[in-house]
Amino acid sequence: KGKRAFIAGVADDNGYGWAIAKSLAAAGAEILLGTWVPALNIFESSLRRGKFDESRKLKDGSLMEIAKVYPLDAVYDNPEDVPEDVKANKRYAGASNWTVQEVAECVKKDFGNIDILVHSLANGPEVSKPLTETSRKGYLAALSASSYSYISLLKHFLPIMNRDGSAISLTYIASERIIPGYGGGMSSAKAALESDTRVLAFEAGRKKRIRVNTISAGPLGSRAAKAIGFIDMMIDYSFTNAPLQKELHAEEVGNTAAFLSSHLASGITGSVIYVDNGLNAMGVGV
Ligand code: NAD
Repeated sequence: KGKRAFIAGVADDNGYGWAIAKSLAAAGAEILLGTWVPALNIFESSLRRGKFDESRKLKDGSLMEIAKVYPLDAVYDNPEDVPEDVKANKRYAGASNWTVQEVAECVKKDFGNIDILVHSLANGPEVSKPLTETSRKGYLAALSASSYSYISLLKHFLPIMNRDGSAISLTYIASERIIPGYGGGMSSAKAALESDTRVLAFEAGRKKRIRVNTISAGPLGSRAAKAIGFIDMMIDYSFTNAPLQKELHAEEVGNTAAFLSSHLASGITGSVIYVDNGLNAMGVGV
């Protein structure tokens, strides 16, 4: 029987979430997406108009099928959490059932259960500010959108996840090494995400033998990364300094997610897996 995956954090065909969806689809999984509410209309109309058809192509020539796209805002757990101004915002008013709890309920109603949960989202409103210039509000917003969102997703999806399932998130080495420019508490958010990966691996493992891992990915020129502003420099730095002097393809991260979600990785949980051309292993620039 094929597996079913819910991938949170896909709003175009450039990021890691899209690449993970493709690798999972190529491995035979059914694909459900969670798309940030303000980005939903453009994403769905682009899908409908065939704008992504070229990048939907899988190795066997077929197109990746997306069974359903759910609107999602992972900073809200249930409708009571949503402030009035967000409810009234016209980018949100057109969609419904987009808090984490509601999305999990909708997926349960539509499909019953899932095997694979992917968290490929992050947001830090003050990411371009150094930590010493980050406000409390900005710091907590980074943690809410980029770290707690994962706890919330796993908490709400766990009841509908099949035994022996897999949960995966995306992290970045700024959690453990100094990367100037990755500010606003985003480095702290990734440190929390990695620590939580271990604790969640224990809890989900004991409950349902679900494996929880995070992929520490190298730099990719996604929409989110371009918003940070220094991504081209990080890509150049990696090319110059990493053991493997090649471009890092989103597909390489996608394939790792497919491996981690498969029986081949049945002994791996609570791990940070690097997919970064080996850059993490370097001690000095060359
Ligand atoms: P991306 O823009 O493709 O993905 C980020 C997604 O998060 C977007 O689709 C955005 O709409 C969504 N999002 C933001 N706030 C949200 C919210 N509140 N609720 C729901 N969705 C929300 O960019 P990406 O770089 O592929 O990012 C995916 C993951 O990979 C992130 O966790 C990121 O930190 C991580 N990562 C990226 C890089 C890189 O260089 N691009 C490196 C390491 C790790």
